[in-house]
This record gives sequence, structure tokens and C-alpha cells, in this order.
Amino acid sequence: QLAPLPPMTPAFLKTLNTVCQQCYRDFAPDDVELGVREHILQDLESFVKRQFTGARLRLFGSSKNGFGFKQSDLDICMVLDGQETAEGLDCISIIESLARLLRKHPGLRNILPITTAKVPIVKFYHARTGLEGDISLYNTLALHNTRLLASYAAIDLRVKMLCYVTKVFAKLCDIGDASRGSLSSYGFTLMVLFYLQQRNPPVIPVLQEIYDEEKKPEVLVDGWNVYFYDDLDKLVSPSIRQKNLESVGALWLGLLQFYTETFDFREHVISIRQSAALTTFNKQWTSKYIVIEDPFDLNHNLGAGLSRRMTNFIMKAFINGRSVFGTSVKAYPPEYTSPMEFF
Ligand code: ATP
Ligand code: MG
Repeated sequence: QLAPLPPMTPAFLKTLNTVCQQCYRDFAPDDVELGVREHILQDLESFVKRQFTGARLRLFGSSKNGFGFKQSDLDICMVLDGQETAEGLDCISIIESLARLLRKHPGLRNILPITTAKVPIVKFYHARTGLEGDISLYNTLALHNTRLLASYAAIDLRVKMLCYVTKVFAKLCDIGDASRGSLSSYGFTLMVLFYLQQRNPPVIPVLQEIYDEEKKPEVLVDGWNVYFYDDLDKLVSPSIRQKNLESVGALWLGLLQFYTETFDFREHVISIRQSAALTTFNKQWTSKYIVIEDPFDLNHNLGAGLSRRMTNFIMKAFINGRSVFGTSVKAYPPEYTSPMEFF
């Protein structure tokens, strides 16, 4: 049982809100930085075409979903013209010969093919910008979930701000790196979106549940339904727009409280594809505490790789976050400019 938080004064909420907005301003890339990513992509595509004539490269992940940082990696997916899916392709040997080719690119360093992972990739380092990146093949669902996240980000600026705050929080607390046994940025973003859908009144709708009468809400990719409502003009219109008017600061504290006080991890799945509750029992996912369902690949639990120790560590970070961000201090020591720096 957690000790109840003291009541928030308007002045404290205002400070919290400023901190959250500042976090977004400090970390969001500008148009120039986004342009640099597109430029690298174009350059790589024409280089790769020397050997793979019909190759097309596409950016996904945080270069495209609206929650990128200046130093975020470049997530790139390669497909071949005239080839719909990876079926019949020897992905491992394509990745290996792609790696051999990329070693000849003068601007790249540290080329490393990783063929043992579930999704084979070739990693690289782009010397001039200092950006790291990887290229995967036919990572088609990732392109669609990137588009889904980007749509949520475009509905309301508070979505973006809260995702930045959460990602910064996760990095600072060392709970946001899937390659080191914690949760991926993607997993945290799904947690934020789920919370914003469950808020009363909701901040965002469930895009996978909205559809026009005349259009069947089904688009199959790799056997999964990737349909979602993407008519953004209608979504931001006053008739559909959600009624929630809370500040980002209040929503941030609300998020920490939601995952420490309200949400029943044992009972429920974090699932952004439906507004009705989904139980861990129903999914047969009862062996893990943090259970996050991928919005398209319904067999995929983003929390599957978390150890019990890491789960505790993540939950403790949320509990500490709740008391740090939920407790007003008379004045910060002069060397601190924001509660973020307490971590
Ligand atoms: P960052 O700014 O930290 O790079 P990101 O949104 O790019 O954030 P990554 O972890 O680099 O997050 O993942 C890139 C993309 O790969 C995600 O947007 C998602 O489409 C896909 N992805 C990552 N992890 C998973 C996962 N565990 N399951 C399914 N898809 C994933
Ligand atoms: Mg990324």
C-alpha cells in the first residue's frame, strides 16, 4: 500500500506542467534533423541498389513515429520490388551480403550482421552524424505500428509530450533498453497510449475500433489485421475530439499513479487495440506481471522478456517517480532546475 499523495496546489501543478513541456522542447528533433535522416536514407538506398537493383529502404520507429530523439537510432526496413513478403527469401544470406556491401560504403563504420535474432538485421554506425542504425528485411508490421503511433501523436500534442517525458524517465531510470533486459521504447509508448485511452474522459480514442460504415475494417499483413482509422482531419474535428482538457503535468502524475495505484497488472493486459478490458487469463499470459499486447501481432507480449528482478526494478522506478513528481517541494536547491534531475 502506498502512502497517499498530498493534495496538489495549482502552483505545483503549473511547475510540473512546465517541466513536462520543457522536456519535449529540449528533446524533440527539429525539421533539419529529421531531414538529415531522410538524406541518409536516400544515400543508403542508392548505394544498396548497386547490388540489389529493386531494393527500397524505408524508415520506421522513432525517426517516423513522432517520438524521436536527436540521438535515436535509424530503424530501416528493406524490401525488394515485386516481392510482397519475405516468403521464399533467404533472409540470412541477404543480410550477410548486405553487410559485405555496406562495408564498402565510405561513410559507414562498425558493420555488424546479426543473424541469430528473431528479426535478422545488419547494424551500422554513420560516421558523420554519429547515428547508429540497423536494416531489417520485410519488417512490415513495424512499418504499420510506426504509422499507428504517428497517428496517435498527431491527434493531440499532449500525446507527444507525455511520450517524451516517459522515454526520458525510462532512460534516466535505466528501465528503457530492451537489449539490456528492460522494456523497449515501443513498449513504454504503448503503456502511455493505453493510459491515455483509459483516462476519464479519454485523451485519445481507440483508432482500431473506429471505422466508416462503408469500409470493412480489415487489412491483413502477415496474417494480422493492421486496420486503424487514419483520417486525421476527422479525428481532430470538434465532433470526434475527446473532451479531456487536463494539462500534460497532471497527465504525467496521473500516469505514474495509474500504473502504481489503479491498474491491476495481475488481472489485466495493457492493450491499445480495444477499449474493453482484456484479461491476462483470457490471453493465457499469466506467468508475467507486466503484460503488453502488440496492437497488431496479438501473439506478441512486449513484456515477455522481462525477468522478475527487472519487473520489480521497473515497478520501483514508477513508485519512486510517483512520490518524486507527486510531492511538492517549497523550493528546489539552486543546482536543480527540474524534478527530472532528481533521478
Ligand atoms: P528510440 O527513440 O528509443 O529508438 P523507437 O520507437 O525507435 O525509439 P525502437 O526500440 O528503436 O524504438 O524500435 C523501433 C521500432 O521497432 C518500433 O517503433 C516498433 O515498430 C519496432 N519494435 C521495437 N521493439 C519491438 C518489439 N519488441 N516488438 C515489436 N516491434 C518492435
Ligand atoms: Mg529506434
